[in-house]
Amino acid sequence: MIPIHLRPHHGLCLLTFEGRGYCPEFVTQMAHLKNLLNRTPKTHLILTLQCDDLCHYCPHRTGNHCDSSLPEKIDQNVLSLTGLKAGQSITWNELRAMTRQILSNNLNSCCSGCEWLSICSKYCNTPKSQHHSPKIPN
Ligand code: SF4
Ligand code: SF4
Repeated sequence: MIPIHLRPHHGLCLLTFEGRGYCPEFVTQMAHLKNLLNRTPKTHLILTLQCDDLCHYCPHRTGNHCDSSLPEKIDQNVLSLTGLKAGQSITWNELRAMTRQILSNNLNSCCSGCEWLSICSKYCNTPKSQHHSPKIPN
């Protein structure tokens, strides 16, 4: 099986994905990848800082590059928070456990500037929610 290439921050986006995205093709690929990984969580991923198997379907991609510099900043934040390295191979199970921690505890700083943050941040632990933690999706 050809390994799946994934940008580190897409490990977060896959958790919070609710059927919205940049275009129908992108949404279809997100849904497909999320279903595939949750069905087979031991699937190996290769972390990349370049365009990955999701970017390929995004209108904000030019060749192998994202038109925005923000995703790479968020990728670096995820690497720094998890201790992971670009080029590393990791299972979805392992990456999901790490990104769930970020989603609970560090999302606002990790994803600062992202246009989707107000939607994704409903899964963060806040002082108000500490006795009733929001349920994080798979
Ligand atoms: S915005 Fe950039 S990083 Fe995000 S999916 Fe599109 S091309 Fe990839
Ligand atoms: S805030 Fe943006 S980068 Fe962070 S998980 Fe949501 S969509 Fe992905």
